[in-house]
Amino acid sequence: MNAPLQPQAHFHKVDFKPKDYKDENTPSFWCAGCGHYGVLTSLLRALAEIGVDPNFLVSVSGIGCSSRLPYFVNSYKMHTLHGRAGPVATGVQLARPDLAVVVSGGDGDGFSIGGGHMPHLARKNINITYILMDNHVYGLTKGQCSPTSREEMKAAVTPYGGMEEPVDPIMYMLTYGATYVAQSFSGNAKLAAQLIKDGMEHKGFAFINLLSQCPSFNELDTAVAFRNACDEVTGHDISDRSAAMQAVNAAKQAGRIPTGLLYKTERPTLDQRMAELVERVGGSKDYDLRKIIDLSRP
Ligand code: SF4
Ligand code: MG
Repeated sequence: MNAPLQPQAHFHKVDFKPKDYKDENTPSFWCAGCGHYGVLTSLLRALAEIGVDPNFLVSVSGIGCSSRLPYFVNSYKMHTLHGRAGPVATGVQLARPDLAVVVSGGDGDGFSIGGGHMPHLARKNINITYILMDNHVYGLTKGQCSPTSREEMKAAVTPYGGMEEPVDPIMYMLTYGATYVAQSFSGNAKLAAQLIKDGMEHKGFAFINLLSQCPSFNELDTAVAFRNACDEVTGHDISDRSAAMQAVNAAKQAGRIPTGLLYKTERPTLDQRMAELVERVGGSKDYDLRKIIDLSRP
C-alpha cells in the first residue's frame, strides 16, 4: 500500500553544493552571453541553500530557449507543450503535494501562448514556483516581438518598430492574486538566488520575473541596460498589495525597473483546500489522489 502523501511542509533535505544540482548529461544549448545562464546559476544556488533532495524535485517547462532549463537541473523533468507548463505543473503538484515543483519559461510562453493560464495559477494559489525568464523577445524562433517587447523594438517582422504596449508581468501577477511576486536581473545572481529560495519556501504560488538578456536577438535590452535600470525596491509593506503596486508604479514612472521581493501574503493553497474538502466529505485528510482518481477508467 502506498504511504499517504503529506502536503509538503518541509523539503526533503540533502547536503549538496550548487554543482551537484547541475545535470551534465545535456550539452550547453544557449548562445554565449545569454542571460539564461544567470537564471540557471541562481536556481542551482537556491536549491543548494535549501538543500532540496533532487528525488523530490520536478522541473517543468513549456517551449522556448528558456524552457530548456530543466535539461540542466538534477531533477525529474517535464518539457511540455508551448504555454502549457502551468497546467502540467498544477497536475503534478496536486497529485504529489510532497514534491517541490519549479516551472521555468519565457515571456512568450508565459504571457502569450500560455497567458490564459497565468491568472488561474495565481488565483488558485497553486503551490509551485514559477520563474519567468523574461528577455522581451522570442529567441528560439529568431527574434520576433514578444508580449514584453518594448514598443520601439525593431524585429524581423516589425522592421519599423512595434505597435503594441508591452505587458508588465509583475503588475499582472499582483492583479491576478499571486501570493509571492518578485523580480530581479538574472545577472544579479545573489538577489535572484535569494528570491528563488524564498519563493520555493513560500507556501503558495510564487512568481519570480528574471530579466534575462538575449544578445542574439534583442539589441535594446542588453545585460548592461537591464543592470543599469534595476533598482531594488524596499520600504513598502510587502504584505499590502496596493502598496506593492504603488511602489512598482513609482519606480516605473521614474524610468526604473523595480526589483526585489515586491509582495508576499499567505492564504490556503489549492492542495490544502482539496485535503480539507476530502476530509469534510468523509475521506482521509492524508488523501492520496491516486486512490481518488480511478486511472483505469476510460
Ligand atoms: Fe539565449 Fe537568445 Fe540565444 Fe535563445 S537566442 S539561447 S534567448 S541568447
Ligand atoms: Mg523570450
